[in-house]
Amino acid sequence: MNLNEIKGIGENTLKNLKKLNITTTEDLISYYPFRYNIIKKSNIDELQHEDKIIIDGTIETLPNVFYFSKKKDKMTFKLNTNTKLLNIIIFNRGFLKNKLKIGTTVTIIGKYDKKNNNIVATELRMSPLPLKEQIEPIYHITSGITGKQINNFIIKSLKKENIIDYIPDYLNQKYNLPNKIDCLKQIHSPTSIKSLKYARNKLKYEELFIFMLKIKYLKSKNHKKGLEKKIDYKKVEQLIETLPFKLTTDQLKSIKEIYNDMINENQMNRLLQGDVGSGKTIVSFIALYMNYLSGYQGTLMAPTEILAIQHYNNIKKTLPNIEITLLTGKTKTTEKKQILKKLAENKIDIIIGTHSLINENVQYNNLGLVITDEQHRFGVNQRANLKNKGTNPDILYMSATPIPRTYALTIYGDMDISSIKTMPNGRKEVITLLKNNKQIREALELMYQELKKNHQVYVIAPLIENTDKTDMENIYDLEEKMNKAFGKLYKIGILHGKMKDKEKETIMNDFKENKINILISTTVIEVGIDVKNATVITIFDSYRFGLSALHQLRGRVGRSDIQSYCILISNKETERLNVLTKTFDGFKISEADFKLRGSGDIFGLKQSGDMNFKIANIKNDFNILLKAKEDSTLFIKKYINENKYSHIKALISKSINLD
Ligand code: ADP
Ligand code: MG
Repeated sequence: MNLNEIKGIGENTLKNLKKLNITTTEDLISYYPFRYNIIKKSNIDELQHEDKIIIDGTIETLPNVFYFSKKKDKMTFKLNTNTKLLNIIIFNRGFLKNKLKIGTTVTIIGKYDKKNNNIVATELRMSPLPLKEQIEPIYHITSGITGKQINNFIIKSLKKENIIDYIPDYLNQKYNLPNKIDCLKQIHSPTSIKSLKYARNKLKYEELFIFMLKIKYLKSKNHKKGLEKKIDYKKVEQLIETLPFKLTTDQLKSIKEIYNDMINENQMNRLLQGDVGSGKTIVSFIALYMNYLSGYQGTLMAPTEILAIQHYNNIKKTLPNIEITLLTGKTKTTEKKQILKKLAENKIDIIIGTHSLINENVQYNNLGLVITDEQHRFGVNQRANLKNKGTNPDILYMSATPIPRTYALTIYGDMDISSIKTMPNGRKEVITLLKNNKQIREALELMYQELKKNHQVYVIAPLIENTDKTDMENIYDLEEKMNKAFGKLYKIGILHGKMKDKEKETIMNDFKENKINILISTTVIEVGIDVKNATVITIFDSYRFGLSALHQLRGRVGRSDIQSYCILISNKETERLNVLTKTFDGFKISEADFKLRGSGDIFGLKQSGDMNFKIANIKNDFNILLKAKEDSTLFIKKYINENKYSHIKALISKSINLD
């Protein structure tokens, strides 16, 4: 049925509905109320001052209207509730004046001013309260259309529309779920809170079940035929022997999982997850080595220039006999041409770089492995772009952003996951201190103690320079301050995103080689920078950052067995920041962050339309999600190809756009 076949929907209404993204009857029916009003007579004696009130009564005095302008007015009258006489004040209802005769029964909804016996009303209805309590659906609306109208159209189309239930009958039975059509009726005109809840749960379950089916289906499709690699694992073990440290159990396990994916004919599609400092990089190097051993080219992409350079320098040390090149957006044109030529001729085994490795016209000879570091920084589209290079190369994502479990399941549901859960042996928790701006002396004191031991210090500012007159710290002011405090004894360097690459590289190298003792920086060092001898990070105006970002910054220290410190300086939001002094688990921190910020855009999720649920909420409905996950697995395994479920299969394959 088309929208315009519904009685009462004409050209104008169609336009208004379109503003709400409603273009089909399906859209209309699934345009769910975002909340409900419960209409029930208040017991006025129990109300506190300023409570919400719902009450009916008869008009006792003729209304007085005062007009501010044509459309703006204030009306007052007295209402007799049988037990009390109340003063009603309501704005912009002057047009009702003539209907409000003495003795007329009306219902008033508003705020109760107990002290003055007033009600400031938000609603005035020309009828008494219904005897039974009523639950009224409230819809998001736009100008030109009311919630009542929307509800009306929905009820009408529910009578005619053919409603399909996408939950298989055996699951409906298992959970004793109501009919879908009954659920929809409940949602749009509820009869009781209990039935409404059942109805909502069923629709949430259906939505999540379909969602999980899609993810599972995607996952099965993602396991496309890939490269079946031959790897001499003895050589891998030999490399591991030469490393300056012993790999942790989780690192070894991850390597094994990656190895198994590679020798398998299916394409690898794996996420390597592990908290800051857990040692993901070396795992990725070994993955690149295994890929090299099997005769393919490999690439590693980092989110920043500095990090790409760091990876490049490190991997050359780990794999000295292999042809490895660095390519970034800033590589000179002539040099770049050379590199691209060699790459196409298979004279380069491993290439390290930034986004430019996918954005530009980079041709590989036989690409076998693509790794992206700190992958949450890459958008979903960039991820897809990457996959299109080469003939189904193996894909490995690395992320230190610990995604809360719910989200991992949904964003990464189509991937296999390897986790590094334990830190390398001997690591100590970074001692985290919260100081206000008046306690900076104490921070300087601690920094001095560490500098004396020949350790190094990071100082972080939210801004490069003061553009307007904020009182936030900026790099150049801090440089002055640090110079005053330490300039005579220690060397100070600054680093920020607006500097030229060569300058950045020089500064980073000097810091790595301990030629610079104090590095003042913006958050450009947030991701991945690895200097083991740095033991203090002092973050000014730390309230400016999310907890996860601060956790990442903190991860710049404590990267060896030396005790390290993180000093958070802030005059604001100390309660929020305090989480960090007590919590070191990135997962818990991101959960806290998530609760505080509450939206999915932290992870760039907004880009993925799949996450826009109509009724479910993956945060609050996690238990339903888990059930849906389990049930969808079994469904795909056992039932999906049965004839009676063809409508379900059609729905998921239609909505998944596989390229
Ligand atoms: P992240 O997981 O945050 O990317 P890195 O891979 O940069 O962490 O590793 C952090 C530091 O720990 C690096 O200096 C690395 O050399 C070191 N490291 C990695 N694995 C181990 C290990 N098994 N034992 C000791 N140090 C390790
Ligand atoms: Mg890293």
